[in-house]
Amino acid sequence: MNLKRFENKVAVITGAASGIGAATARVFAREGAHVVLADIGDEGGRTLAQDLGPTALAMRCDVSKQKDVEALIQTAVDTHGRIDILFNNAGIGSYGNTVETTAEQWLNVIAVDLHSVFYACHAAIPHMPRGSAIVNTASISGLGGDHRFAAYNAAKGAVVNYTRSMAVDHARDGIRVNALCPGLVDTPITAGVHQIPGLKEEWTSRIPLQRAAQPEEMAEVVAFLASDAASYVTGSIIVADGGATAHTGQPDIARFADLPTG
Ligand code: NAD
Repeated sequence: MNLKRFENKVAVITGAASGIGAATARVFAREGAHVVLADIGDEGGRTLAQDLGPTALAMRCDVSKQKDVEALIQTAVDTHGRIDILFNNAGIGSYGNTVETTAEQWLNVIAVDLHSVFYACHAAIPHMPRGSAIVNTASISGLGGDHRFAAYNAAKGAVVNYTRSMAVDHARDGIRVNALCPGLVDTPITAGVHQIPGLKEEWTSRIPLQRAAQPEEMAEVVAFLASDAASYVTGSIIVADGGATAHTGQPDIARFADLPTG
């Protein structure tokens, strides 16, 4: 395997200070990329940039603000002259059904999870040469409905179809656009799952692989999509969920009765 898949590539990563974004930044940097790390919290990004070497750059950026995102892209272009990889990964969740969700919560989730992708792509695409790649972090919550994830389901569902739309529009520019749909991943965004008695066990029991993913396992999928190995992959919605959405939801009868097969 070529261990320097991203030699001299310029990669912009949002939500880079933590979880999936940080793990992916590590893979890009390890394999030769100049990484530009964007996050709303400046501490984690700065510490990570120091770890990743002299060309790594950390910027404070609220991806829900178009001006912040424009400044991020402009800094990447001023520093490196172009962007080869754009990983739109920053995201937040929100809990509540449609009645429980306030308009403020709704707008915030849509702004952080969806508008951010438009702002970054709108600003970056003119600076992306042929052979570039965009990867958007959606979610399996963008493929179906969850209990009380109304705003998140809406935002991630839109990211899924917007990914396809951009793939169609920008294929002629030589830019591939794909989305990652993680299932349950052990990161700070899901830390609350561990604090509710029984929830983690119930959740993982519904996953055929019987466990949550580690962020590094998502980073490997993103790295593939961003690499030349995926040169014929565009408009794809790549599910990495331990088999969760492969399941119909019907029960394992063997847990209830010892029926003979056949
Ligand atoms: P995480 O909390 O570790 O990372 C999210 C990062 O986004 C944080 O560093 C946070 O500071 C940053 N962020 C939040 N709001 C921001 C803003 N307005 N501007 C800039 N940065 C902001 O969680 P994660 O699991 O690594 O999440 C990454 C992505 O993966 C998100 O889009 C999330 O929705 C998605 N996802 C996560 C899971 C999971 O189970 N962890 C599952 C499916 C999808």
